[in-house]
Amino acid sequence: MSVNITFLGGTGTVTGSKYLVEHQGRRVLVDCGLFQGFKQLRLRNWSPLPFEAHNVDAVILTHAHLDHSGYLPLLARQGFRGRVHATVATRDLCGILLPDSGHLQEEDAAFVNRHGYSKHQPAQPLYTRQDAVDCLPLIHAEPWHQVFSPVPGWRVSFHRAGHILGAASVLIEVAGRRLLFSGDLGRDDDLLMLPPDPPPAADTVLIESTYGDRDHPVENVLAELGEALQRVAARGGVAVVPVFAVGRAQSVLYAIELLKGQGRIPRSLPIFLDSPMAVHTTALYGRHPHDHRLNPQALHAMEHAAHMVETTEQSKALSRHHGPMVILAASGMATGGRVLHHLALNLPNHRNMVVLTGYQAPGTRGATLASGSDVLRIHGQDVPVKAEVVQLESASAHADRKQLLAWLKRMPSAPGQVYVVHGDLQASDALRQKIERELHWRTLVPEHGSCWPC
Ligand SMILES: [Zn+2]
Repeated sequence: MSVNITFLGGTGTVTGSKYLVEHQGRRVLVDCGLFQGFKQLRLRNWSPLPFEAHNVDAVILTHAHLDHSGYLPLLARQGFRGRVHATVATRDLCGILLPDSGHLQEEDAAFVNRHGYSKHQPAQPLYTRQDAVDCLPLIHAEPWHQVFSPVPGWRVSFHRAGHILGAASVLIEVAGRRLLFSGDLGRDDDLLMLPPDPPPAADTVLIESTYGDRDHPVENVLAELGEALQRVAARGGVAVVPVFAVGRAQSVLYAIELLKGQGRIPRSLPIFLDSPMAVHTTALYGRHPHDHRLNPQALHAMEHAAHMVETTEQSKALSRHHGPMVILAASGMATGGRVLHHLALNLPNHRNMVVLTGYQAPGTRGATLASGSDVLRIHGQDVPVKAEVVQLESASAHADRKQLLAWLKRMPSAPGQVYVVHGDLQASDALRQKIERELHWRTLVPEHGSCWPC
């Protein structure tokens, strides 16, 4: 009996990761992510899945980012009652991220209804904060490198992928086949995270390709960020930094603290972390001391690098603050969250700056800013972009083309088939060509919805 895999997300896009593995009528879903970016992609979140949620035996999460975990509340609402297996840190992060995601969906729907620019009346949230809270008890934590069985006869284990706290590659052994899911791979030289483990042997490999067509610049993040912040501080402007509450927020904070310590930006430059979720996530690093590089001293410095902004009132008060400052706020691709208000307020002034710190998926406001657009649509309004836009390529939490290839080369033996996933089409195809040319392995970029035997 064969093992089949169906690609239900993360193909031709970095978002919506969902891979359904089937064998003898048993179904395991690897990742359960939200689509983000282009409206066409976001609409997929509203389409029914090609299977009944209650027929899925288990879910395995590679990590907590919403494009890998954010569909879980919907899956549970549709009747999924199995277990969700994740690393300890991923479970803890989901406890913060998923309720917040539900809350944001509710807020966005309420905002649209208040301002009456939805074609659908009234606008509904994809899921609510309560839906997210309700699905959390399904998540079971598994230790690193230890085999567990989500389904009798299936053997699964988590291997470190770097990237963010708790991020894993997943090895599934079923019916004599070995399937390896890279998850999002971090970089060997990340400021915060440990390097990915060498991959275990597998017959079939799914590898991410966010940066499948690019190598990161040699310039390091401290130099790039330091110069940008020095420049905006000198002209008395505000730097708005859209950050993912998990991962990016912490590494930018840590970098800022290092820059201040080295005297490369003024000690007095006020830093605000305007994301309650990022505040809570930052505290989680202390609870998982073996999952990152920071010693207690560095951790303390990171936690105290910024004024923490918890309430909406405190957030609004920031607009009355004069003089140079740096505001870190979610979300990282400016698809929602408090950063929108800061952008709307600060983009029209040429003294200000937007610092993009990670990958910006096409169709997101972050990508629009990175492309040099002179106008940005926020909450139904066109906001003129006069502020300087800086994109820190060196701040990425993803392995680049060279590092992805190096990870594959560390496999103990050649796999029979490689699937290139989790990338825009051009990035995925570039990595496919590179793998075929350098490693001579059979490689394919799967179509959305396609099903293949492993
Ligand atoms: Zn990720």
